[in-house]
Amino acid sequence: MVLIMSNQKVAIMGSGPGGSYLYSLLRKKKPEIETSIFDIPADNICGIKGCAWGLNYSLFSGLCQNIGLITERYVLRKCDHVFLEDVKIDADIAVIDKPLFIHDMLSGEIPRNPLDANTETYDRIIDATGYKRAYLSSFPASRLLSTVQYRTIIPSVSVPHVFINDKSGYAWIFPLNEGEVHIGAGSLDGIQEAMREVDKLCEQYKAGAILCSCQENLWHDGPVSPVTEGKIWGLGESIGLVNPVSGAGIIPAMISAQLMLENWDDPQKYELSIWKRYSYMIKEHDIAVKMVNKKLNIIELLNEIGTLRAMSRDAGIAPQLSKIKEYSRIKGLFYQV
Ligand SMILES: Cc1cc2nc3c(=O)[nH]c(=O)nc-3n(C[C@H](O)[C@H](O)[C@H](O)COP(=O)(O)OP(=O)(O)OC[C@H]3O[C@@H](n4cnc5c(N)ncnc54)[C@H](O)[C@@H]3O)c2cc1C
Repeated sequence: MVLIMSNQKVAIMGSGPGGSYLYSLLRKKKPEIETSIFDIPADNICGIKGCAWGLNYSLFSGLCQNIGLITERYVLRKCDHVFLEDVKIDADIAVIDKPLFIHDMLSGEIPRNPLDANTETYDRIIDATGYKRAYLSSFPASRLLSTVQYRTIIPSVSVPHVFINDKSGYAWIFPLNEGEVHIGAGSLDGIQEAMREVDKLCEQYKAGAILCSCQENLWHDGPVSPVTEGKIWGLGESIGLVNPVSGAGIIPAMISAQLMLENWDDPQKYELSIWKRYSYMIKEHDIAVKMVNKKLNIIELLNEIGTLRAMSRDAGIAPQLSKIKEYSRIKGLFYQV
């Protein structure tokens, strides 16, 4: 069914990167729509949901241009490689000032309290509430990844580092500026296991004082239907768009907002566009499960070259086939056949 509406009233619930990007797009490209944005204030120092702030630089740059923002204003660090354990992998990654970016997408506007939103009065409700998926019917049963992250000082780390957890997840150190880093871990075995892992890394890297901390859940099963239910339309993590291996969800949230705008009058076309762009994440999830269970073997992985290409593109990493021998020695990642 094709719905053609004008003079709509739209409520965006959630001001993460997905909700805020849609807000900016609607304000600029569909000013006739009355758009309001709502959120619950975060209780950490940076004021937004916990995140390491790393993303694919080139994709980010294109998305910034689309809404008239200057990419470099947000880039704290640009990196042409990352380390997975001690193995160097080419990359096109930036670590951004995400709170500033969200502030600018909202033109400084403070999102309103969702309790003040009378949802009956809106023609469309956007569920941009991340893993809470507060307006669409709840996620199918799944284990969410429990994460913990600190902001602290480790001057010796100048590019992103990712570590494979011995048990059921991974950990990371993402450099910000002035020696500060985000150091965090995620685990399928719950928050205590994630904390144990991050404390171990803090000790190993002689981290300074903890400046900020947060605990969050992360969806990692790939896209979820339904993407729309009547007047409720989802985007970003609320419809499962997080890369299951890398945990990258900022760019998919913004791209899904763009796809929603392009298919504004047709929910089916919107859902199709999401599946066309992101169905590869279902296979990526299979790879993530094998990694966690230490059952990934490199030959099998090479058979999934299409999935690997799509996930590398979205995460901003560029593994090279010529370095396959080097990758195969990454600690704990590959099950040797
Ligand atoms: C520790 C951690 C590190 C991460 N690091 C990275 C990274 O480096 N790079 C990357 O790309 N991704 C990262 N991610 C994933 C990324 O943060 C998310 O996938 C991405 O922010 C999703 O964007 P979103 O707009 O869909 O939702 P979110 O960013 O989750 O935003 C949802 C918003 O909805 C609000 N909300 C919740 N309930 C309600 C309600 N009932 N009504 C109104 N508002 C509500 C929340 O307060 C929040 O502001 C990380 C995640 C975690 C947990």
